[in-house]
Amino acid sequence: MNPSLAPTRSCAGCNVKAPKHSLIRIVRTKSGDLGLDLDHKKFGRGAYICDIKCFQIASRKNRFDYKLRGQVSREDLNSIEQILESNLQIIHSTVSGD
Ligand SMILES: [Zn+2]
Repeated sequence: MNPSLAPTRSCAGCNVKAPKHSLIRIVRTKSGDLGLDLDHKKFGRGAYICDIKCFQIASRKNRFDYKLRGQVSREDLNSIEQILESNLQIIHSTVSGD
């Protein structure tokens, strides 16, 4: 498959465009909860990151407030960061196994 035909998204941290399935999606659901969307199937506002480093950049620059159309609490960001830290292996196998 021609990669240029794959839908791309910009990383919230480094702004690089990449095929959307190679990025990690963070989603804000209708109930307002923030979570990781490893299957890219959840409904809601999404933001994309390459990895935990880009998450930390985006978090520090409050990019998620903009990308997710509303203020994101520090507690939510901290809990996402902890999930990313403890699940990097799983996330990478999920992303590359797609
Ligand atoms: Zn990035």
